[in-house]
Amino acid sequence: MPRMTPTAALLGAPYDAASSFRRGSARAPRAIREALASKAGNSWSEGLVDTADPGVLIDAGDIALTDVNARDAIEAGVRRVPDTGARPIVLGGDHSITYPVVRAVSRTVPRLTIVHVDAHADLYDEFDGDRYSHACPFARIMEEALAVRLIQVGIRTMTGHQRAQADRFGVEVIDMRAWGRGARPAIDAAEDVYLSIDMDGIDPAFAPGVSHPEPGGLTVRDVLSLVHDLPARLVAADVVECNPDVDPTGITSLVAAKLVKEIASQMQLFDG
Ligand code: MN
Ligand code: MN
Repeated sequence: MPRMTPTAALLGAPYDAASSFRRGSARAPRAIREALASKAGNSWSEGLVDTADPGVLIDAGDIALTDVNARDAIEAGVRRVPDTGARPIVLGGDHSITYPVVRAVSRTVPRLTIVHVDAHADLYDEFDGDRYSHACPFARIMEEALAVRLIQVGIRTMTGHQRAQADRFGVEVIDMRAWGRGARPAIDAAEDVYLSIDMDGIDPAFAPGVSHPEPGGLTVRDVLSLVHDLPARLVAADVVECNPDVDPTGITSLVAAKLVKEIASQMQLFDG
């Protein structure tokens, strides 16, 4: 049989200069790769896909970044991945990277449904005077109509301003109270899904190594089920806001690595 095109390409975006409180997430790509390679586990997904197979997941390395012109560099770096036929899984970095990543992906996939897992809505028009803060990426994305749907899951820090922004942009917010009552994203098989996972969407009991820990969140299994149960093609993803500086046991990097494996597997298993 001819070799398949690699389905997923891991790409690091080690950038944390848009963090409003604590930097450190720029060191996450290395920590997550170490967790992926750790002999403590193996490379198979729960759906029995071997993510060590280069036909499933390749490592495209890190985008070379400084704090200057980082958004342009991230967009250009991600744009190269679909050109190879692979689907990007981008490792942040803080959540500001999602705006240039989505810009790049939306060039080849114009009607994206974004599923966004986070404790925070990240819909501020500006934060501390910065319109490109990690608190703002989804405002920029929706203003530019880079996605046709934005579904947020795990939210538990909503503010009046961000609620108004959500209404303005037609964002579908499944906050933790709604999640607890059983609300789940309703996605049609014909949609193209971009998955953005902020590690602080997961409860700090499971993923404490983040810059803005917020109690009352999702379990790791909740997020895994969200990935496994996606009923549509997963065209790209990012995993952001893991902060190795405040993750002494490495458990948060390990959770991120597990998510990467299951995302790559889902890209392979569901290719409708
Ligand atoms: Mn976020
Ligand atoms: Mn967050």
